[in-house]
Amino acid sequence: MAVPKRRVSHARQGKRRSHQHIHPRQLCYCNKCGNPIAGNHLLCSNCGWSNIQKREVVSMEKKKEE
Ligand SMILES: [Zn+2]
Repeated sequence: MAVPKRRVSHARQGKRRSHQHIHPRQLCYCNKCGNPIAGNHLLCSNCGWSNIQKREVVSMEKKKEE
C-alpha cells in the first residue's frame, strides 16, 4: 500500500484546498419579461418563453385553465 513519505503541513493542505469552494449559480434572464431563470436552456416559469427558440413554448393561458 502506498504511504505518504512526509506529512502535509496545515498551511500546504490549506493552500491546496483554497480552490475547493462552491461557485454561485449563474442566472439568466427571460428576454420577454426579465424573470430570472436558472439556465438559458430552460423555459421561463413566468411566461413560458424559451430564450433559445425565441418563442413562447408553453402557453400560460392554458395553464391557468388547468
Ligand atoms: Zn418570461
